[in-house]
Amino acid sequence: MSRQPYIPISQVALGADEEELVVAVLRSGHLAQGSMVAKLEAEVAGITGAVHAIAVSSGTAALTCAIRALQLLGHLAADDEVITSSFTFVATLNAALNAGLSVRLADIDAEYCIDPASVAELITPKTRLLMPVHLYGLPCDMAAILDLVDRHHLLLIEDSAQALGARFHGQATGSFGLGCFSFYATKNITAGEGGAITTNDDELARVLRLLRNQGMAGRYDYETSGYNFRMTDLQAAIAVAQLRRFKEIQDTRQDNARRLTAELAGCPGLVLPLEPPGRRSAWHQYTIRVTDDARVTRDELAAHLGDQGIGSGVYYPRTVDDYPCFAHLPQLSRGPLPRAELSARQVLSLPIHPHLPLGGIERIATAVRTALVA
Ligand SMILES: *Cc1c(COP(=O)(O)O)cnc(C)c1O
Repeated sequence: MSRQPYIPISQVALGADEEELVVAVLRSGHLAQGSMVAKLEAEVAGITGAVHAIAVSSGTAALTCAIRALQLLGHLAADDEVITSSFTFVATLNAALNAGLSVRLADIDAEYCIDPASVAELITPKTRLLMPVHLYGLPCDMAAILDLVDRHHLLLIEDSAQALGARFHGQATGSFGLGCFSFYATKNITAGEGGAITTNDDELARVLRLLRNQGMAGRYDYETSGYNFRMTDLQAAIAVAQLRRFKEIQDTRQDNARRLTAELAGCPGLVLPLEPPGRRSAWHQYTIRVTDDARVTRDELAAHLGDQGIGSGVYYPRTVDDYPCFAHLPQLSRGPLPRAELSARQVLSLPIHPHLPLGGIERIATAVRTALVA
């Protein structure tokens, strides 16, 4: 119907910078992990303020390495308990389960991040690790999380896959504990596939570097059984090129979010996303809730937007454990999850990426209003 350009929920824009750096890597003849990966690591350390950044092949690899490094150094035993969010991408859960940990799933707060009060209720004497997820780019309530970490002597891994550059009272996500980032195609900064782990601990950094490279300390000198989780210089070049525009990309996302909020303010049947005091989002997603008294359901709104040439996304349609493959796993348990379950039914993410066409925000807002205003 509409002749206006389709607006996808996410869009990678690869330009002259990416071409230049990828071609430079090709011409160097050095494709495997090398100087471009080192450059990416320096950039990630700079953004997060962490002492070390270790690039790996994906965000899932980052989580896997982070857990394994804690186990290897004796901080975490195989069957220790981790508490993480019930409202996250499956990679968070997979990394914990595949490491042999027992997983307890907590509910979320009003902004979709793990709820510290729900975490507190799940802590047992076996709990050793907290894995908060900075969902949609918004930092969790790190003050409350750090308080639990201190009081119960817990370890901390932040799933920051969606939150590069987000800040809690000025401190970057990923710098509170071990930070795990993703450079997957749809993330704010992409390498196609890729990830990174940040830490201030020299020994953890050393072990993480071993683990991504077969546990090898020197040529054929194996210190532990490791993985091949290396990133290539080709992938790193793509991310390094994007990081040249990092501030511009972040500012555009934030500006788009603010404009969309201004346009949608007061629209009946909607709950708009916000940044609670001190929590500055990376705005990976702009996620609204379509309440039960709205004129249309969440899925009807998504269909209506699709008819208008506007993409949207449901992150996530179920709590992370609500799949037959995870049912009856003795090592997986959950507390009451009223907010996560309600959110799974009601959330819808709208496009705010930096490549919206001119007038895109107004088009999205008009389409949403048309569906919801009688
Ligand atoms: C993307 C993502 C991951 C995994 O990253 P990959 O690079 O896709 O492996 C983990 N956790 C969350 C919350 C994510 O959004």
